[in-house]
Amino acid sequence: MTGSDGNFPPVGFLIHSDASLHDTGWGHPEHQGRLRAVASSVGQDLLALDGRVIQVEPGNIEEEDLLRVHTGVHLTKIRDAVALATRESRLVSLDPDTVVSTNSWKAACGSSAALIKAVKLVHDKELSTAFVATRPPGHHATADRSMGFCLINHVAVAARWLQANRKVQKVLIIDWDVHHGNGTQDIFYADGSVYYFSLHQWPHFPGSGAADEIGEGEGLGMTKNVPVEARTSSVTYCDLFLENFDQVLQSFDPDFILISAGFDVMEGDPLGDLCLEPKDLHFLTTEVIRCAPRGCGVVAALEGGYNPKRTGLGVKAVLRALAEVS
Ligand SMILES: [Zn+2]
Repeated sequence: MTGSDGNFPPVGFLIHSDASLHDTGWGHPEHQGRLRAVASSVGQDLLALDGRVIQVEPGNIEEEDLLRVHTGVHLTKIRDAVALATRESRLVSLDPDTVVSTNSWKAACGSSAALIKAVKLVHDKELSTAFVATRPPGHHATADRSMGFCLINHVAVAARWLQANRKVQKVLIIDWDVHHGNGTQDIFYADGSVYYFSLHQWPHFPGSGAADEIGEGEGLGMTKNVPVEARTSSVTYCDLFLENFDQVLQSFDPDFILISAGFDVMEGDPLGDLCLEPKDLHFLTTEVIRCAPRGCGVVAALEGGYNPKRTGLGVKAVLRALAEVS
C-alpha cells in the first residue's frame, strides 16, 4: 500500500462493521451513535486527505489472541451473557455500567481483530500509522472482569499479539482517556516488557491511578500515573503530558506505541471534566510521533468519548496528526 504520492505508506483507519451493532440502549452513554458520528466525521475528511488516510478492512481474531490477556472463564461469562441476551431479547448486565446484547461479542472481538490488523500492517510497514475505532471500549477490562463499559481489553490484546507474532519486545501504552485504565494497568502491572503511562482526571472513576501506583516485581517502574485535577487547563495538561512522556522515554525505549485514545478528555464530555480541544489532541499525537524512537510503530485505538459530535471531531484531529496534516 502506498499513499497518493506513491512514496510513503498511508495511514490506516479501521472500524469493524459489527462494532456499531453493540446495543446498550440509547439512554446509555456508550451508545451506538458514537461510532456513527466518528464514521461520519472521518468519512467526510477522507476525500480531503487525498489518499494519505485509507480505510482498511479488519481481519480475524483467534481465541488464542484473547487468551493471551483474558481468562477462559472471563470469555465464557461474556459469551453466556450474550447468549442469554439473545434468547430473551433483552440487555444483560455484567456489572452496574456494563451491558451486553446480541451483537456484543461480535463487536468486541471484531474491534480487537481490527486493532490486531492495524498493528500488523504498521509493524510490517504497509501502513505508516493507524487509528482504530474500537467499540465497546477496552481499557477498564481486566484479565477476568468486565467493567466500565469494557468487555475485551483491545490494547492489551494487540500488545500481546505483537510480542507473540512479531517478536516485538517492548510496548508502550499511552492512555489519555479521562478515566484511569485500571484494566490495562492491572494486566501489565508486574510485566517489565509493557510500560503503561496514563494521564487521567483525579479523583474520578474507577478510583485507581494514584501517582504511587508504579508497578511491581519485574514491572516496577513500568507504570506511570499522572492524576490531573478537574478543570485543569489544556495548556497545563499538555505540559504535564509532555514532561512525563519525556521521562517515560528516558527510561523505556519502546519498539511499539499503542495509544488508548479517549475523547472524554475533551471539553464538554458528559463523563469527564477536562478541557482539551481537537487541536490539543492533534498536538499531543504529533508530539508522540515526533518523539517516538526511529522505527517505532504508533497505533491509536478509540476508548471513551461520550459527546458523539465532539468525539467525531477529536478522532478527525488525531487522524490528521497521524497523517502529518494540519
Ligand atoms: Zn473514559
